[in-house]
Amino acid sequence: MKIGKPVTPARRISKIGLSFIMASTCLGAGESEAELAICLDRGADPAVIAHAQAIAAEMLSRVGIATKWYSYRGSCLRRPDNPIAIRIVSHVPENHHPDALAAARPFDGIRIEVFYERVKGAVDSGLVPRLLAHVLVHEITHIIQGTDSHSDFGIMKAHWNTDDYHQMMHAPLGFTEEDLQLIRNGLRSRMEHKLE
Ligand SMILES: [Zn+2]
Repeated sequence: MKIGKPVTPARRISKIGLSFIMASTCLGAGESEAELAICLDRGADPAVIAHAQAIAAEMLSRVGIATKWYSYRGSCLRRPDNPIAIRIVSHVPENHHPDALAAARPFDGIRIEVFYERVKGAVDSGLVPRLLAHVLVHEITHIIQGTDSHSDFGIMKAHWNTDDYHQMMHAPLGFTEEDLQLIRNGLRSRMEHKLE
C-alpha cells in the first residue's frame, strides 16, 4: 500500500480531545436519529464518490445521524432542509489550503470543498473510497459542530498517520466523547435554526 506523508483533513490545528471511543457509540440512549440533507457533487468520479458516500452514510448512521444525499446543483442548495453543500474539486493550486485534503467553512454551516486529486494521491486506489469517506465525515462534522477544532484521535484528528490509514482499511475511525458532545450541540442548534 502506498503511504505518503501524514495527510491533513483540513489545515487547522488540533485543539481538543482526550478520550477515544469507537464509532459505534451513539449520540445517546433515547435520542431520535437526526437527519441531515447533503448536496454532493459526484461529477469528478461518480463510482468512487458514490462508494465513499455509502461508507460516509454508514459512519454517520452509527452515531445517530441519518443522511439524505442529493446531487449538487443550484436547486439543491435552495432546499428548505438546510443542506450541507459538498463540491469535489479535481484540480486546485498547490497554495490553496496546502497539504489539506479538504476544507470546510464551519462558521457558515454550509460549504465543503474536497480536493480530489490530493485524496487520490494520498493512498492506493483501493483505499480511495474509504479515505474519501473519512474526509467527507470529518468535514461534515466540522460543519455540524460549527467549529474548526480537532481531536487527538480518530475521525477528527488534524493529521491522519500510517496507523490511521491501516485502521481505515479494516474499520472506520471513531469519534471522541468530546466530538460527540459537540455534534449533539451542533445538531440541536441546526434544528432550532430550521424551526425559526
Ligand atoms: Zn479538520
